[in-house]
Amino acid sequence: MAIPLLRDFDIQGKCVLVREDLNVPVADGRVANGARIEAALPTVRHCMAEGARVVLVSHLGRPRPGERDPALSLGPVAKALGDALGRAVKLVDDWQDGVDVGTSDVLLLENIRFEAGEMTNDPALAQRLAGLCDVFVMDAFGTAHRTHASTVGVAEAARAACAGPLLAAELDALGRVLDNPARPLVAVVGGAKVSTKLAVLESVADVADSIIVGGGIANTFLLASGVTIGASLAEPDQVDVAQRIMSRVEVPMPVDLMTAVAVDAGLPARLRPRDEVGSDEMVLDVGPETARRLADLVANAGTVLWNGPLGVFEMDQFGEGTRVLAEAIASADAYSVAGGGDTLAAIEKYGVAEGMSYRSTGGGAFLEYLAGETLPGVDVLERRTVASNRQ
Ligand code: AMP
Repeated sequence: MAIPLLRDFDIQGKCVLVREDLNVPVADGRVANGARIEAALPTVRHCMAEGARVVLVSHLGRPRPGERDPALSLGPVAKALGDALGRAVKLVDDWQDGVDVGTSDVLLLENIRFEAGEMTNDPALAQRLAGLCDVFVMDAFGTAHRTHASTVGVAEAARAACAGPLLAAELDALGRVLDNPARPLVAVVGGAKVSTKLAVLESVADVADSIIVGGGIANTFLLASGVTIGASLAEPDQVDVAQRIMSRVEVPMPVDLMTAVAVDAGLPARLRPRDEVGSDEMVLDVGPETARRLADLVANAGTVLWNGPLGVFEMDQFGEGTRVLAEAIASADAYSVAGGGDTLAAIEKYGVAEGMSYRSTGGGAFLEYLAGETLPGVDVLERRTVASNRQ
């Protein structure tokens, strides 16, 4: 279903309340990684250029609901936003009875999780947020899987509500992968545990032509194929899940592996043929021949979806599989979408950001969307038809 988009609204002189995901790491009172701020800037600049009065709302961290923890103030974020926009962004704590914001001004509300009713989607809080604005703009894909006052309640209560450009871009990118992908669609699902990505694996098996599994997840698939994996991280209780996935979609199995007797930065990686992993060894990466084969698969893909590393890439000696795969995705002609905290860290580590067609800003929301779940923060916008949007 089509959702109302910000670009369809005349916002000149109007007050727009934009839910952004400005939940960034802060250390020593400064923003330590501003990627989410960068991602929000085009929307903020668009609203300013259109002559709107701009109020931003976001959460930061996990304060105890209703408690004002100074360490989780959005002060450093307001400062970083102001620096990036070239004009001061005022942080407002006492906004409950209204705000004073001029044309093209930008205000940032203090951490919305300082309000007791945020995480319970309290209607009174949602109403107060809605009362601040003419148009509510949901642009925080990263929190669209949460039913909170600043994501869902306000979208129901506001005079008008729509998706911002960042949220729309996320939905477009994921739609291009899941709804009508250029074939073949190769999905990479790596990481530690099958159990945490079960729904993603099941759902992706419906649409992908092949699934490359990596990390502890691949270990469980090896176990399911009858391969002895020594002391590796794996989930024997998920073997039946792995077998079911393998019966539905092609899952290329590693032919060689990198092992060590412990996950230890000081230990060298040992190359083992797939059937020669010692009983005291842990599989911590794929071997070079496997990496070459997986890179070939990706090079010939029409679409690549990537979530999760192929090994313990944080340690260089177990990161080669992830590096080779990352470089192959980046240089492929395929439309490529990558997401998840570890995946974005790997993209940064191997310097391949430019080669990705789209990098998702949502962690949990990205995985839930891939798993075929409805995101409440998007669903509510779908229910806001043109008629229910009063301008
Ligand atoms: P996830 O949060 O499920 O995406 O898992 C990512 C984490 O899995 C990373 O921190 C990796 O170091 C870790 N990991 C990847 N491969 C392995 C492996 N073979 N054994 C243990 N941990 C792994």
